[in-house]
Amino acid sequence: MDMKERICEKFRSLFGTDGELFASAGRINLIGEHTDYNGGYVFPGAIDKGIIAEIKVNGTGKVRAYSLDYDEYVEFGLEEKDKPSQSWACYIFGVCRETAKRGGKVEGFDTMFAGDVPLGAGLSSSAALESTYAFALNTLFDNGIDKFELAKIGQSTEHNYCGVNCGIMDQFASVFGKKGALIRLNCKTLEYKYFPFDPVGYKLVLVDSCVKHELASSAYNKRRASCENAAAAIRRNHPEVEFLSDAKRVWLEEVRSEIPEEDFLRAKYVIGEVQRVLDVCDALERGDYETVGEMMYQTHFGLSRLYEVSCEELDFLNRLARKCDVTGSRVMGGGFGGCTINLVKEELYDDFIGQAKEKFTAKFGHEPKIYDVVISDGARRL
Ligand code: ADP
Ligand code: MG
Repeated sequence: MDMKERICEKFRSLFGTDGELFASAGRINLIGEHTDYNGGYVFPGAIDKGIIAEIKVNGTGKVRAYSLDYDEYVEFGLEEKDKPSQSWACYIFGVCRETAKRGGKVEGFDTMFAGDVPLGAGLSSSAALESTYAFALNTLFDNGIDKFELAKIGQSTEHNYCGVNCGIMDQFASVFGKKGALIRLNCKTLEYKYFPFDPVGYKLVLVDSCVKHELASSAYNKRRASCENAAAAIRRNHPEVEFLSDAKRVWLEEVRSEIPEEDFLRAKYVIGEVQRVLDVCDALERGDYETVGEMMYQTHFGLSRLYEVSCEELDFLNRLARKCDVTGSRVMGGGFGGCTINLVKEELYDDFIGQAKEKFTAKFGHEPKIYDVVISDGARRL
């Protein structure tokens, strides 16, 4: 039985009726890493792994929610004081609250949901959950909230109800995602544009190192500080530079002797990465996936050597990808663990995955996890 059928069957047996079905998706980011807080581009897309929820208004002031994957039932009211204790339910509660804060109507409903986004693997299962409910409530109560605001409802849910101070990319990708397209988002202006992504003859596969090194959050703050420092130095010569992503390579060279070498290297990565996103978009318009892949390797090099947010496991997977003639490979996400994202020709896939499992396990003592992904639709009614 597939996920949708399991939800429908259980919904009927628990609530004695049928509701409406909604879904949304996890996401990948093809390129554009550590660019968001520098006012640069990110380039995400929704994937074929997500959340499906069935919902029916129940005529009360209460939400009755069932998580099929956790086999857990929760009831909560819709006032601020009614926050549930289960963390999965906080995502739904948060979306209700954030919708109401924006003047949207939200009344009690019965709901059941399940998903197949691996949790905490860097594919944003939480954004899939938030955007499913943000979209569903907007539709059910006919609130007319625009799509960008639906993404912000998800982001504010993370901030205000889940204690995660995230950017907008995950929820944006999950709400706006389209089959066969990636979306270039300008993190400064929030302008966005779709580009075709339909790599016939290639597969997109994530190799999850299943490690998370503790360095991540302190290093993140240090990287941000380096970027701000470099941007401030450049701004003295070029006042139009609001964010580091506004700077040209030569402008960075001008201030090289004025800033710590470390800040210079960090900034060099960021300025290069902004250009690589643009180059990848051009390549995709030509259907040139070999160039896309080469840019992915360049990003990995930059993240590893200039920005220094990679780790032994991820560098190992990246080198292995090169050896197996994988078209493109890089660490995805903030770094210090998590997944590599790989664009690989179909005929080379089995060899690469076989070697990744065998050699990684031999070296690090545990198997990496493998997730095939296809770029798919984001939030929608089924
Ligand atoms: P991720 O990087 O995948 O977004 P998070 O820790 O931000 O990881 O979000 C994971 C949380 O989202 C889970 O702990 C759970 O509360 C909720 N969640 C995601 N998918 C599901 C699901 N299928 N069923 C229940 N809860 C889910
Ligand atoms: Mg999350």
